[in-house]
Amino acid sequence: MIRDFEYLAPKTLEEALTLLSKYGEECKIIAGGQSLLVLMRQGLVAPKYLISIKGVSELNYINYDAKKGLRIGALTPHRAIENSPVIQNGFTALAEMERRLASIQTRNWGTIGGNLCHADPAGDPAPVLVVLKATLKMQSLDGERTMASEDFSLDYFETALGPGELLTEIQVPVVSPHTGTAYTKFNVIESDLATVGVAVSIILSSSNSACQDVRIALGASAPTPMRAKQAEEVLRGKKITDALLTEAGQIASTEADPISDIYASEEYRRELVKVLVKRVGKEALARAKQA
Ligand SMILES: Cc1cc2nc3c(=O)[nH]c(=O)nc-3n(C[C@H](O)[C@H](O)[C@H](O)COP(=O)(O)OP(=O)(O)OC[C@H]3O[C@@H](n4cnc5c(N)ncnc54)[C@H](O)[C@@H]3O)c2cc1C
Repeated sequence: MIRDFEYLAPKTLEEALTLLSKYGEECKIIAGGQSLLVLMRQGLVAPKYLISIKGVSELNYINYDAKKGLRIGALTPHRAIENSPVIQNGFTALAEMERRLASIQTRNWGTIGGNLCHADPAGDPAPVLVVLKATLKMQSLDGERTMASEDFSLDYFETALGPGELLTEIQVPVVSPHTGTAYTKFNVIESDLATVGVAVSIILSSSNSACQDVRIALGASAPTPMRAKQAEEVLRGKKITDALLTEAGQIASTEADPISDIYASEEYRRELVKVLVKRVGKEALARAKQA
């Protein structure tokens, strides 16, 4: 049962930050409520004040600038990202990831910012944002700061957000030429969280022969979304072959630090990392060759 709380509904960012600063640990921000309400119903979270930011429309947008790149307001629902032509055309893996996140109903309500702030290591957006080199903007009454998305999650359900801070924007740089990015997850129930999720981004040299740069990010494979940096080294600077992708998958599976739970054992998750890194790497490579 949900305990009683006082509901506050600011309409501007300034109002939201003021309330957050005023009520501190006694309050909780709610965006789409798709993760928080589950915790409140279970009695795991019982805020005295619930600050709904759903009406703060200035945080709901998708903008693209050829120099600055993509800017997504933290309150943008998953469904808007999935259906954005700019994202479908220029950031395929982001749209692809959103299509597999939960159900349409959840995607209509749930926001990208809420997903990142919930910091479930099995969340879908984080690995894709990490390989896209995304930066996150946070704001409080004291000002704003940005941080690489890969540094945002600190532990299970714990983020780098400080007291009084809201996540306000996701910033994705312009994608370099000859880049291919892909994401997939394995899940037992379609529209559920990942048992393991893998995102890979590959930048090829201008002649399309060697791998100039690569990022591999794993979800549901450690307490936070993580980069498989040793696996990346297997590919960086080389002409990528099937054999190298197999080796990268093997190394990523040893770098991962997964748990055993009701969905999968640790061993099974390591096996999934091995298989999916190769599979997603192949797809990213094929896309890079056509980019
Ligand atoms: C049935 C179901 C299936 C799901 N399947 C998936 C799935 O397949 N993949 C996946 O990744 N997720 C899945 N989820 C999780 C959920 O969809 C996402 O986590 C959702 O995006 C959360 O966003 P929200 O806006 O609803 O966040 P809320 O529930 O409103 O908030 C989540 C947390 O973030 C904080 N918060 C929200 N916005 C901000 C902000 N701007 N700044 C600071 N703190 C903030 C809140 O205080 C709270 O702690 C599923 C959820 C359900 C109910």
